[in-house]
Amino acid sequence: MQRYFLNENAELHQRFFITNKDDIHHITKVMRYTTGDHLVINFHNAQTYKVEITAVDQQAIEVETIEKLAIHTEMPVSVTIASGLIKSDKYEWLLQKATEMGAHDFIAVQMGRSVVKLNDQKAPKKLERWQKIIKEAAEQSYRQQIPNIKYYSNLKYVYDMISEYDYILMAYEEQAKNGETSKFKEMLSQLKPNDKVLLLVGPEGGFSEEEVKQFEAHAQIVGLGPRILRAETAPLYALSAISYEIELMR
Ligand code: SAH
Repeated sequence: MQRYFLNENAELHQRFFITNKDDIHHITKVMRYTTGDHLVINFHNAQTYKVEITAVDQQAIEVETIEKLAIHTEMPVSVTIASGLIKSDKYEWLLQKATEMGAHDFIAVQMGRSVVKLNDQKAPKKLERWQKIIKEAAEQSYRQQIPNIKYYSNLKYVYDMISEYDYILMAYEEQAKNGETSKFKEMLSQLKPNDKVLLLVGPEGGFSEEEVKQFEAHAQIVGLGPRILRAETAPLYALSAISYEIELMR
């Protein structure tokens, strides 16, 4: 059953209005649901309820929460993917797949070797499109939260926020080329529920030496296995390894 999202606090037997146009279209035209039918809605803080449709009109669908569902599809740790700007189609593919794989949020970063540039005027429109792709992937994959996405025009802005994270991981291709194979696994074994992880991934051309130097003192500089992955593949490798380590093994 398709999931919908309402960013409100919910309790049992409360009424809410769905006003998002795409959701209304999906519920009434695609699913052909009407009064009396049931939906699953994710509310604030990953609280999920079965709801019953109590009224339908063109501007809003009224629903009532009828059962709290014991569903837990969010990763126990939150992983932020801060990655270099890459070609649009590749980045959109990454957003969709990484949302399915449980990424908590995204930061698109203009890095030194990003071939693609995004000027500040165009950024809001891009972010809107990216957020829509993420929302659809979140609904489809039964996520309970919709990941957010931000854009930074320089990696230094990401550097300014590192104190917000418990672990900073910089995936560095040169580590892989040097045969470094233990740091990522070591770090995964330390992860605890509610930890916040920042994963830095370079663009097609990789990180510049200055970018690596900037983070060296604060980040774990890790290899992701012996093969060099594309910029849109590396975050997926990391997310699947994190999921395997903390969602399947314990
Ligand atoms: N053009 C570069 C590779 C860039 S890959 C070269 O040929 O050397 C794009 C990004 O994916 C890298 O900056 C890094 O963050 C990540 N990445 C890809 N493969 C990796 C690996 N095996 N280990 C660590 N990071 C990797």
